[in-house]
Amino acid sequence: MQVVADVKEMQRLSEVWRREGKIISFVPTMGYLHEGHLALMKMARKKGDVLVISIFVNPTQFGPGEDFERYPRDMERDKQLAESVGVDVIFAPEVQDMYPEGYQTFVEVIEITKPLCGRSRPGHFRGVTTVVAKLFNIVKPHVAVFGEKDFQQLQVIRRMVKDLNMDVEVLGHPIVREKDGLAMSSRNVYLSPEERQAALRISRSLGVARELVAQGVREAPEVLRKVREVLTPDEGLKIDYVELRDPETLKEVSHINGPTLLAIAAFVGKARLIDNAIISPIEN
Ligand code: AMP
Repeated sequence: MQVVADVKEMQRLSEVWRREGKIISFVPTMGYLHEGHLALMKMARKKGDVLVISIFVNPTQFGPGEDFERYPRDMERDKQLAESVGVDVIFAPEVQDMYPEGYQTFVEVIEITKPLCGRSRPGHFRGVTTVVAKLFNIVKPHVAVFGEKDFQQLQVIRRMVKDLNMDVEVLGHPIVREKDGLAMSSRNVYLSPEERQAALRISRSLGVARELVAQGVREAPEVLRKVREVLTPDEGLKIDYVELRDPETLKEVSHINGPTLLAIAAFVGKARLIDNAIISPIEN
């Protein structure tokens, strides 16, 4: 396994592979790898001949006052984990090489970045689409895998790839959870043991919503009210948003009559956590 920091060197490697007829698969990450990331890599491994991951904490997707500086980083550990799942190259550039002086180009997806995390984190998706577009130009992948944990992000990337005719197949991977149900996240390290208990309400509330819908409840306000009740029996968790939306268009849903995205963002201590589920009225 190689670690490449240089943009030109990464492009050269990818160009050689392409000329050899190799399929390049790619998993972009911000590092501090966990089993969720590794599951994406295992999936990507099967889809291509060479597997590239990126580790880059992208400053343009963090807002003022967010956790860019204190975002957890551990390159040595990440290297070992990446090697264990057969990563060929870690592309890990420096911020000044991705955004040198004079940088002024951004990629923006308009409509589906407006609700949910786009509303709470203005500019976030502009940073995400910009860095992913850059990474695609550097790594030149045929296939890229993204997690459904960041469901809106996955749909935004799909939209960008379609709208800009990028020749990359985008694949989604289901959410990977801890045994107790908490969605895996690099940000879970911010949680104290008590906060972690409060955070468990998020995945639990998704289950409660699923049950309600299975029992025949179809009205969005009723489901959302119950979810809010499960999330906030006390002050340990602060809701950012709880919403039911169409999984494709991300438009708000008032009546559940097909697969529907239940998306949650909440603050627990210093951590902002997100989770979601696709809830379908016709289950099993
Ligand atoms: P991040 O390093 O948090 O930017 O995540 C890198 C990629 O891993 C993104 O496509 C995420 O959606 C995905 N990912 C992160 N956590 C999980 C998880 N628990 N399950 C599935 N995918 C995940």
